[in-house]
Amino acid sequence: MYNVLLSPSQKKIFEEASKFVASVDKQLLIDMDEDKIEYPKDTIETLGKLNLLGIRFPEEIGGRGLKWQDEVVLIEEIGMLGAALSCASVMPSIVGEAISKFGSSYQKEKYLKPTLQGKLICAEGLTEPRGGSDFFGATTIAKKSGNKWVLNGQKRFIVGAKGADYFLIYAQTDSSKDYKKNMSAFLVDKDKVSVENLYELMGARGAGTGRIVLKDAIVDEDNVVGNIGEGSVIFYQMMIPERLTTAAGALGIAKASLEIALKYSKNRKAFGQPIKNFEGVSFKVAQSSALLDAARALVHTAAKAVDEEMDASVQRRLVSEAKRFSTQSAWEIVNNAMQIMGGIGYTNVYPIERYLRDARLMMIWTGTNEIMDLVIQHELYKELEKNRILRDVELDAKSSAQLEEKVFE
Ligand SMILES: Cc1cc2nc3c(=O)[nH]c(=O)nc-3n(C[C@H](O)[C@H](O)[C@H](O)COP(=O)(O)OP(=O)(O)OC[C@H]3O[C@@H](n4cnc5c(N)ncnc54)[C@H](O)[C@@H]3O)c2cc1C
Repeated sequence: MYNVLLSPSQKKIFEEASKFVASVDKQLLIDMDEDKIEYPKDTIETLGKLNLLGIRFPEEIGGRGLKWQDEVVLIEEIGMLGAALSCASVMPSIVGEAISKFGSSYQKEKYLKPTLQGKLICAEGLTEPRGGSDFFGATTIAKKSGNKWVLNGQKRFIVGAKGADYFLIYAQTDSSKDYKKNMSAFLVDKDKVSVENLYELMGARGAGTGRIVLKDAIVDEDNVVGNIGEGSVIFYQMMIPERLTTAAGALGIAKASLEIALKYSKNRKAFGQPIKNFEGVSFKVAQSSALLDAARALVHTAAKAVDEEMDASVQRRLVSEAKRFSTQSAWEIVNNAMQIMGGIGYTNVYPIERYLRDARLMMIWTGTNEIMDLVIQHELYKELEKNRILRDVELDAKSSAQLEEKVFE
């Protein structure tokens, strides 16, 4: 399916990404889905060698100095390989955002550069057993002891719990302060944490998702990302790659499902003709196609807003809209594909059932779609205060002057 949005530089990334995606052995995807693989380390290393990790970061730290508008093209393609692999491939982009924007040169050398080369695997620890949506209610605590920090707490659902070499962990550092100034971010090496549970997931398997426990985990002062108490600022910044990568990855799943359904409906016959001749089938194809194109347009719009460093409110709203709409659309597109394929779509003869399990997760992780709605409306109300349109459209009604009818209390 043709992506009309691509600039020449994006076309180059698309070609490279497509070549990589075509080269991935299908057995890897099957083994990951059967949890026979703990973490797709080799594939991440290959992506590192191809310089396809965190391509928007500056060249001096190992990126390609490209833009978000390029990176979403890459992520959409890798998304076709499923949620687990695409999540592992974007983790350097998510954790790297914190290190590149707030980290010290020591952290960039020791952690970020080898991560972008695919030599170190990173993971992020935000969610706790007590909740993910209420991020600032996190109870992991870091206490200063001499020139070290001692961390105690737990993080749940961590992709790469098994497999990661280090974790970006948020912890409370001063509960006497306002909740936004209480949080700090730390880089914690894997030998400081224990993995207490590996989840048996519905989908997105093979990426070492588990619960990690920090028990008197001693962390050097050099591993504090940014300043103490700056965790909330880092968190808000990280939510851009966190959500934009899911939004772009969902496009890949949607695109792959639609392609399978298109081919199937052309070839499969019922009542003596291809099932695509029935409106009940072809209209689902039409709806899926429109959803996919709309979702992609929104993802690219959000990417542009971030690239152009537009107002923070606008960036946050568009990124949240992209995450919400793209994942919801992917769910509907995969579901349509399964319906078009009848019973065979529900078996592992086609990967549709795996895509369905993946798409379901995408509406939950990196902030649930309800939390996306929360952010969208919040930022939109803020924008209303800032951007007044010149024409007061409220007055374009015959009786708009009847002020006694405009009662608000
Ligand atoms: C496979 C998998 C991988 C993951 N990977 C990671 C990872 O690598 N690192 C990491 O830190 N986290 C990770 N997560 C965690 C994920 O981001 C959280 O599960 C998600 O943010 C929701 O948090 P929760 O599960 O605690 O649900 P809760 O926060 O308890 O939410 C429960 C329900 O309440 C709703 N809700 C909560 N508050 C509100 C509100 N204010 N308004 C409206 N509705 C609300 C939610 O939308 C949801 O429907 C992963 C999760 C899964 C399942």
